[in-house]
Amino acid sequence: MGQFKKIELKKFKDSIFTMEGISKTTVENHLKLYEGYVKKVNEITEKLKMVDGGLANQVYSEIRELKVELSFAIGGVKNHELYFDHLGGSGGKPMGSVAEIIDETFGSYDNWVIDLKATAMAARGWAWLAYDRDWKVWCNYIGDSQNTYPIWNATPVIALDTYEHAYWADYGTNRAAYIDAFLHNLDWETVEKQVALIAD
Ligand code: FE
Repeated sequence: MGQFKKIELKKFKDSIFTMEGISKTTVENHLKLYEGYVKKVNEITEKLKMVDGGLANQVYSEIRELKVELSFAIGGVKNHELYFDHLGGSGGKPMGSVAEIIDETFGSYDNWVIDLKATAMAARGWAWLAYDRDWKVWCNYIGDSQNTYPIWNATPVIALDTYEHAYWADYGTNRAAYIDAFLHNLDWETVEKQVALIAD
């Protein structure tokens, strides 16, 4: 099935537990969901070692179910690692290369925020700022689920979780207020490091 190794839980900054606008309770509960994704990647990986490929079927088969849900579980791990990694910061406007990218692509930071917010309000699960390495473009992309609408060879540097579990306890239906809180707690230094990793 491939060369999957057992994956481990990632540790995040302590400052994600003391954010303004996203409560400690929300973060603690949200981390439990992240842990669930990590466990499921490992569980599915183990089951795939024993699956009977001879019974493969596109309508229903064990290998189909395992491989489809593996993509959901991996998405859940990767999306949340990006999310928690770049929270616990002080928000504000970005500096350096991220500021340049945003200005060049969207005209200004304010324009980028307008587009990100609209993308996130229209999403059922995720909004990502990502770089498409084939087309050399930056875009705020939308995802409805952990594993929906990936653009091949586009690498996200910002992941905004718009599932209700990310904000319901703090804001009820007011997702817009949560998006503001997300931006208020964004750690641009971490985003900058992510951008440096994918730079050509
Ligand atoms: Fe989430």
